[in-house]
This record gives sequence, structure tokens and C-alpha cells, in this order.
Amino acid sequence: MLKKQKISNPVRNRRFLSGANWVKIYDLIIIGGGPAGITAGIYAARQSLNTLLITKEFGGQVARKAVAIENYPGFGQISGLELIQKFEKHLKEFRIKIKNDSVVKIKKVGQFFLVNTEGKNQFEAKAVIVTSGADPRPLEVPGEKEFIGRGVSYCSVCDGPLFKDKTVAVIGGGNAGFETALFLSNIAKKIYILEFNPSVRADKVLQERVKKTGKVEIITSAILKKIKGSQFADSIVYEEGNTGKEKTLLIDGVFVEIGLQPSASFVKDLVDFNERDEIVVDFETCQTKTPGLFAAGDVNVGHFKQIITACGEGAKAALAAYEYLSR
Ligand SMILES: Cc1cc2nc3c(=O)[nH]c(=O)nc-3n(C[C@H](O)[C@H](O)[C@H](O)COP(=O)(O)OP(=O)(O)OC[C@H]3O[C@@H](n4cnc5c(N)ncnc54)[C@H](O)[C@@H]3O)c2cc1C
Repeated sequence: MLKKQKISNPVRNRRFLSGANWVKIYDLIIIGGGPAGITAGIYAARQSLNTLLITKEFGGQVARKAVAIENYPGFGQISGLELIQKFEKHLKEFRIKIKNDSVVKIKKVGQFFLVNTEGKNQFEAKAVIVTSGADPRPLEVPGEKEFIGRGVSYCSVCDGPLFKDKTVAVIGGGNAGFETALFLSNIAKKIYILEFNPSVRADKVLQERVKKTGKVEIITSAILKKIKGSQFADSIVYEEGNTGKEKTLLIDGVFVEIGLQPSASFVKDLVDFNERDEIVVDFETCQTKTPGLFAAGDVNVGHFKQIITACGEGAKAALAAYEYLSR
């Protein structure tokens, strides 16, 4: 068991006058409680930075993962939830302030960052690390919004059990789609995987496992057109890419697994985004174009989005923030 670190940083109790009130300034605010944010928190605490971590919830995507994680060193096979609980416990062994809230805006005023939250709080810091990760990308087809919670789902761990012995469609033939199908194969009677491209992109090992279930039918070159139903979704219509013909599948549920979109609109005035709305950072330091503002994990530009790469960036960003604050 680690001992709580004593904070000895001289800037920790510095305050400034805002209107009629004295406001406490943190050295560092971390936004997000996924692998990147938790790791940044551990590194910041070990540098004795007076740190506030603001997060909607702990876990991020890892907590929503359907099947076990097999590629995080030291754990062999571990469920996403268990891994993130270990991360969270590790973080809380250090002295770090945690606030459950959602950040809606960050501004820089002079040398300080003002961070506003949905809960109507305002916090101040000299440096900020954004680790707000990514959310599922929507399909944007008719019927999707109408049937959210009534057949359309973005989280198989959360909603899968509702589809016992039912027929479901998973939209997306990448790793996430195949993992979802694998998870659902223990619950549902029949699963379709619909892939837009002529071939699926999932790892071979996942393809093999899915095949072995005997419950999954893969339809490639399938362009989803709409989700239909009355009270609940009951069918999907897709276009066959090679013939242009429309086909209908009767289903009870639709799981959307077509990728993720970074959730960083609250910081848009202070950073540059690439064409996929990912934050552009300096590779060495994870610094954005605004001095003192760092970003780490899935919210950033980067092709390989994994727990270990998010943790690595979280560590880099916290150490770079420490250097920035020391200057
Ligand atoms: C289905 C699936 C399977 C995966 N399987 C694996 C795997 O087997 N191995 C692997 O290494 N990786 C896997 N990944 C990828 C891995 O989960 C991510 O790369 C990793 O979670 C990214 O961590 P992160 O901290 O950058 O972001 P996230 O995990 O997305 O965490 C973001 C955090 O920020 C918080 N947040 C968001 N917006 C705000 C806001 N405005 N204010 C406050 N807090 C906010 C969220 O609540 C959350 O806590 C998988 C991902 C998916 C979707």
C-alpha cells in the first residue's frame, strides 16, 4: 500500500482575488477519469502538484468494454471494469482532489485557466491536461435517434442482457464490432454483423472466435439506410453495395460500433483539431498550441488508440506539465 504523498509544492495555496472572493488556484486540473487521466493524476501527485481531477465518471471506454482485456501487461486476462477499478484505487492512494462533474468550457485569462462545469462550478489552474477521450460515433441514419434506449444501443455491456434469446445487428466490422458480437453471442439467439466495406477489419483471432460461436452472420458491403419500428426497433434496411438493392433484416436490437469521435468541444478555442476532430499536440510533450494546456489519450491525434498508449500519453503530459510549472 502506497502512503499518501505530502504536498510540498510552494504554489499549492496561492489564491487570487476574483470579484469579491479569494479563489484557490490549482497547479493542475486534469479533465477525464479514463486510463490517460488516471495515469496523469498518479504522475502529477507524485510530483506533489496540487491537482484537481474532474471527471463525469471513472473508467471511460474501458469500463464499457464487452470482453476481457488481454493486452495490458502484467494482468494476462482481466475484465475492463476490474482493470479500471485497480487504476482508480491506485490513484486514490495519492493525495489528489477528485470532482465528479462535466467540463463545459475552458478559457485562458492571463496565465490562468478557468474551467467551467455543468454543475456550475468554476475552477482555476495554472496548467490543464485534457483526457476526455472519445464517444461512440453515431450512424446518422433515420430511426437511430428515435430508437435510442428502445432497441438502439452504443454499449453492449450495459444493454446486452436485455436481448436474451433475441436477434440483434451489430453495425461495424472492426475489432469493436466483433468483440460486441462475441459478447452478445452468450446472450442473443442470432447476431448479424453489418460492415460497410467489402471485407471486415477485425483481428484474425477475433474473427476465428466469432466464427466458432455459430451464431453470427457477417454481411459485407452493407450500407445501412434506416432503422424501423413502432414502439421498439424491429427491423433495419440496408443497401447492398454491389447490387444497389435494398434489403430488410428483422431484428430486436441494433448495436452501433462504427468508431469513436473525440469529446473535446469544450476546449475548441484553445487547440487545433485535425480533420477527425482530434487535438493536435506536440508528440514529445503532449502540449497543445496553448502554453500550459496539454492533452493525452484518445482525444489526441493518433492512430493506435489503446489503454497502454493512453496511459503513456497521460504520463508524458503530467511530466511536461510539471516542467512547464517549474519554469
Ligand atoms: C469496444 C472497445 C474495446 C476496446 N478494447 C481494448 C483492448 O482490448 N485493449 C486496449 O488497450 N484498448 C482497448 N480499447 C481502447 C481503450 O479503451 C481506449 O484507448 C482508452 O480507454 C482511452 O483512454 P482515455 O483515457 O484516453 O479515454 P476514455 O477511456 O474515453 O476516458 C475519457 C474519460 O473522460 C471523461 N470525460 C469525457 N468528457 C468529459 C468532460 N467534458 N468533463 C469531464 N470528464 C469527461 C469520461 O467520463 C471518461 O472518464 C477499446 C475501446 C473500445 C471502445
